[in-house]
Formats: sequence, structure tokens, C-alpha cells
Amino acid sequence: MSGESAPRATVGSESLERAFGGTAACNACGARVAEYRVVALFLHETAAIRAYCARCYPAAADGDYHAGGDGLRLDYAAFAARFGAPGPPPPPTTPVDRMLAALVADPALRLLAPGSEAVARRRRRVPYPVRVGFALDGATSEARMSVAPDGRMTDLAGDPAACDRVRALLAGI
Ligand SMILES: [Zn+2]
Repeated sequence: MSGESAPRATVGSESLERAFGGTAACNACGARVAEYRVVALFLHETAAIRAYCARCYPAAADGDYHAGGDGLRLDYAAFAARFGAPGPPPPPTTPVDRMLAALVADPALRLLAPGSEAVARRRRRVPYPVRVGFALDGATSEARMSVAPDGRMTDLAGDPAACDRVRALLAGI
């Protein structure tokens, strides 16, 4: 599966729906809840699995990625071994998903909207408008940018610390 958010559990040796045990901290609002829902974001070789409370789940299932609570980041093989294969092995990544995966890999990332190119395409605006948020020095720092399907980034604007972070992360790919 490439670039899709998969809100439903797949059949595997372990339940994706209960990946975080009895309770989990919502990635969007931070609430610790027993009735959490899980969203797995697939960026080709990377699966980013995040828990959400009932209130925050709809936006997450629609493709906005948050990383402020309980989560797991696995490569495709590790995901398949633990939860069952979500689909055929992923095709080669796209320039846009390579960029988004580099942002998702940053431990300081708190928000990425949209979380994948598949979601960006569904939102039907090209170049893709992308919002990104980081926790830097104890504060939330946000930036916006436009990303073309060929991976070219333009119009980077927002908090200077977030802009610097985006430039640094994308320079590394
Ligand atoms: Zn929440």
C-alpha cells in the first residue's frame, strides 16, 4: 500500500487497534484515553502508527498526521511481521512522499498536514499546501509551504525556527 492512511485494522499476529495496550495518549490533544483509535500512515517503506481519541480521530483518519502522543514508526517488513501485510510491497517512493517521510522521521515533528501525497491528491490543490509543526525549545513552531508533485518546495513561511527545521530536514534527503 502506498501513501494511504488506513484507519481500519489489518489481520496480523497482533491487533493494530490495540497496538498501545489498555490506554493511549492522543497524538493531537494529548488526552490519555482507553477508547483510542489507531491510524497507520504508510509512506512507502515507512509505517507511522498513531493513537487518537474519539474527538481527534476523524481529522486524523482524513489524513492530518499528529505526533504528540503514543506512536510507533516501523519499516514495511517490521509492520508486516507484527500486524500482517497491509497490502503488496510498496512501489518506489515519490519525491513528495520522500520529503514527507523525512519530516515524519524528525522526533520534534508534531503536525504534518497532509500526511502523505495520496491525501494531498485527494484534497485536489496543486501545488500541495502543506502545514508542518514542531516542538522546538518547549514551544510549538509552525510553517507552511507549497510542494509540487516533482518535490519542488516554494512559499515556505511561518515561524523562523520551523522554516529552518524544514530546510535542514529536506536538505538531508
Ligand atoms: Zn485527541
